[in-house]
Formats: sequence, structure tokens, C-alpha cells
Amino acid sequence: MRPEPLQPGSTIGIFGGGQLGRFLAVAAAKLGLKTAIYAPEEDSPAFQVASQKWQSSYADEARLVEFAKACEVVTFEFENVPATALEIAARHTSVRPGARTAEITQDRISEKRFLSAIGLPTAPFAAIESEADLAVAAALLSEAGTGILKSAREGYDGKGQARVSSEAQLRSAFAALAAPCILEGLVNFSTEISVIAVRSLDGQVACYDCPENNHGGGILRTSAVPASCPESQQALAQDMTACIASALDYCGVLGVEFFAMPQGSAAPLLVNEVAPRVHNSGHWTTEACAISQFENHIRAISGWPIGSVARHSDAIMTNLIGEDVLGWRGILEKNPDSSLYLYGKNGVREGRKLGHVTQISPRTKN
Ligand code: AMP
Repeated sequence: MRPEPLQPGSTIGIFGGGQLGRFLAVAAAKLGLKTAIYAPEEDSPAFQVASQKWQSSYADEARLVEFAKACEVVTFEFENVPATALEIAARHTSVRPGARTAEITQDRISEKRFLSAIGLPTAPFAAIESEADLAVAAALLSEAGTGILKSAREGYDGKGQARVSSEAQLRSAFAALAAPCILEGLVNFSTEISVIAVRSLDGQVACYDCPENNHGGGILRTSAVPASCPESQQALAQDMTACIASALDYCGVLGVEFFAMPQGSAAPLLVNEVAPRVHNSGHWTTEACAISQFENHIRAISGWPIGSVARHSDAIMTNLIGEDVLGWRGILEKNPDSSLYLYGKNGVREGRKLGHVTQISPRTKN
């Protein structure tokens, strides 16, 4: 039986209270939908714009049940929501995307195994769940020359990662991370691109144009459309993303990060990471597209028709990280046609995403 679409006035629950939840709440409000944000931190930026604030721990079963019963559908704005919280919510309401997607993508090892199982290429990797796995990882490292050791869970924005180029370094980095890890061979990519896709409740997929992403210190700095890599490579990235979305029986927006490889490489693209949520590299869709990634996520999980992903402008989105945000007034003064977002977070800390600015210009390529 096809689930009923949400009626305007319904309440969407969102696990996580960061900037992505904040943008989702604003997009929902545009469509006459209410949002209830569930997050443990009192100063969650999304609380400031939502209809309901549920400040509680993800381990508080009674509160989770109450929350799920108050929502027609529940979604999440970060993939590390504890699996048990999603399972509890799923007993009382619809959870979209589903708990299985979160379970696969919140662990780098299970995510890589999933991608390999559906035939998509990634960087060479070795799972290190205990010291016994170090010998296999060391063999991969000696072949790759340099590798990146990443904690399997909870790492984001370059946190929980170490570059290693000898077995001794690998062993001491693994001891320091003190957790299951994955070792990836260092990839010599030409550019990094991503695909922001939306999949409706009835399985239709639409992909936005690929942004080209620049990282510094493991953190996304800028996303620009159009990307500079060949259109055939971008179309392939979109096909691979649609394949991931279908294999997960996904509902909503997802972001997939790719390494675009130089011409002549064995594989033109490697999948770096799957983010089962709206994505930082898709923020420009608000200004440069008919319908933004945030609105499309809300539409999809509500069982509504998804909107056009057509891009009418070129765009560059720049994250305001740490002290960058202190320049907000200068940005407004110098660039009256750029669109500034401040996330309403307390405390300027190095490496913390505190805002972004998007500049659009007339579309250059068809
Ligand atoms: P991640 O958190 O895994 O997405 O890593 C953040 C960034 O680090 C990526 O966007 C790349 O710029 C870089 N990076 C991660 N893994 C690799 C790899 N295996 N080879 C080369 N660069 C990488």
C-alpha cells in the first residue's frame, strides 16, 4: 500500500539541531509544515527556527517514544544518530530515510563494503577492527605508499584521521585512535566533486548538477558549479549516485562525494563518502536552482512530488569557518548581491562551520 502523503500543517521530526536541521525547518515552514527538533544540546541552532524544541538525550527511550508519536514522519540531519533511537522512532512513526541507511553509512567500514558489494569503486581500503588486522593494512600501505587512517565511526570534517606512510606510523596512529579504523590508500585525484540527489517515496531520482569541492584541512571550504571536470564524468557520478539511492531504497536527499580521477585512470571516479542527508556542498541550490535541496528533502519525506533540480545560475558557495565569520559585515558591504547565512551558533572556534555565503552569476554552460 502506498503511504499517504503528509497534509499541510503536519509535523516533521528532525534528529539533530545543527545548521542543516535549521535549513530544513525553514524549508518546511515555507510549505506549511511544522518541525520538531530533537537534539541533546541546549544551544542547537535549529531550535531557534522550529515549531517544537525537544532537548533530550538520544538514550532517553520514553522521550523518544513521545517525540515519535508527536510527528507524522521523522528524518535526521546527521548520520550518527544512534541506531537504537531510529529503531525506537520507527516503531511509532515513519522514519525517512530508514534506519538501515544510517546503520550502513555511520560506519566507514560497512559503507565501503556496501559500495563494493554493489560494484562501485572506492579508494583501496583495509578494515582494521583489531591489532590482528594490522598486517593486511600494512601490506596495502606498502603498495599505496601513503595512506589515511580514519576512525570507522564518528569522524567528520577531517577529525579522527591521520596520514601515514610507514608501518610504524600506522601502528602508532591506530593505537592513538583507539577504535576500529579503516586505512585508505591516498588517492591522486584531479578534482573532488559531489552529487546531491533526491529520491521520492515512489522511487523517482533527480540529481542536481555536480559541484566541484575544495577542502582544506579535511574541511569543505568552497563548492562551485559548474564543475571543471568533463560532463561525461559528471553524468557518471550522477548514475552512480542513483544506483546507491536505489540500493538503499532511499527516501529524501543524499550527498555522495567523489574523487574525479585523471584521464587514463583505471576508474574515472571513486566514491569517497555517502552522506544520507542534505549536504554542505549543496547549499548553493537555494540560490541557483528552481527548488533547493532542503525543500526537496522535505517534499520527498512528506510523500509529495519532488521539485525541479534545474540550475538557472552558476554559483560559488564559501563556508565561513572559525574566525571567517567575524568578517560578516564586510561581506555584506562589499558584495550586496551575495547571500549570507549565519548559523546562530555560540562561540567562534577554529574549524567550526559558522556560516556560509553564496554568490551566483549568469549561467555559462548548458
Ligand atoms: P573524508 O572525511 O573522508 O571525506 O575526508 C575529507 C577530505 O580528505 C576529502 O574530501 C579529501 O580531500 C581528503 N581525503 C580523504 N580520503 C582521501 C584519500 N583516500 N585519498 C586522498 N584524499 C583523501
